[in-house]
Amino acid sequence: MAMVEATEDTARLIRENWLRVSEQVAESCFKAGRDSGDVRIVGVSKYVDAPLTAQLVQAGCTILGENRPQQIWQKADELGSSCAPEWHMIGHFQRNKIRRTLPHIGYLHSLDSLRLAQALNEELQRIDSTLDVLLEVNVTQDESKTGLPPSAIATLLDRAEDLPAIRWQGVMAMSTHHATEDETRDEFARVRELRDQLNERYPQLTLNQLSMGMSGDFREAILEGATLVRIGSSLWQGVLER
Ligand SMILES: *Cc1c(COP(=O)(O)O)cnc(C)c1O
Repeated sequence: MAMVEATEDTARLIRENWLRVSEQVAESCFKAGRDSGDVRIVGVSKYVDAPLTAQLVQAGCTILGENRPQQIWQKADELGSSCAPEWHMIGHFQRNKIRRTLPHIGYLHSLDSLRLAQALNEELQRIDSTLDVLLEVNVTQDESKTGLPPSAIATLLDRAEDLPAIRWQGVMAMSTHHATEDETRDEFARVRELRDQLNERYPQLTLNQLSMGMSGDFREAILEGATLVRIGSSLWQGVLER
């Protein structure tokens, strides 16, 4: 994580970045014939410390994504109650971090095993709570990528009744590194098709959400139906590299 001091300068840059990204997301929605309110931006704050994270929240970004639970604990603590974004966990979630993390998060994008689902459900029931969850899918079944193959997703959702504290919302995916624009769109289309098939098979779950698209490919993702885009680097442009 880069150590850059939060100053008026960084606040201005972050505000400009937030406005630019928000406009680009709105533009992509327009191109796709979608309502801009259909796509929420998850600002990925894993690259920076708490003071810069707070500047992003002040700029207007109210949903933050982190891929390490420790970062969420530490930042939630440092930011305090006057600056309380909605935290989304977007990376691999180890079961031994569940108890300490659940009180902070509202959303998990990266459910990748039945064992994790069972452990989450157990702790959620213990604290009398629920969690919005996306299944992380690997549609290309590329070994280098994380996520469940589509077949494993169905096996997991067949158990949904036994996991009542989990509110299944949809699926999350990452595109393959170095894929061309067409290949990326094609992968995102397959993720959407999978979501649609799951929705047909499990109508009681309403799997409407699609978390896909990062700084380099959110436009393609929005054209293919993304409802949550996870954007990091573009929001820290000019702040981290000087
Ligand atoms: C880091 C990260 C992002 C953001 O990627 P950028 O390319 O920096 O926008 C999105 N999703 C996940 C799971 C990440 O780990």
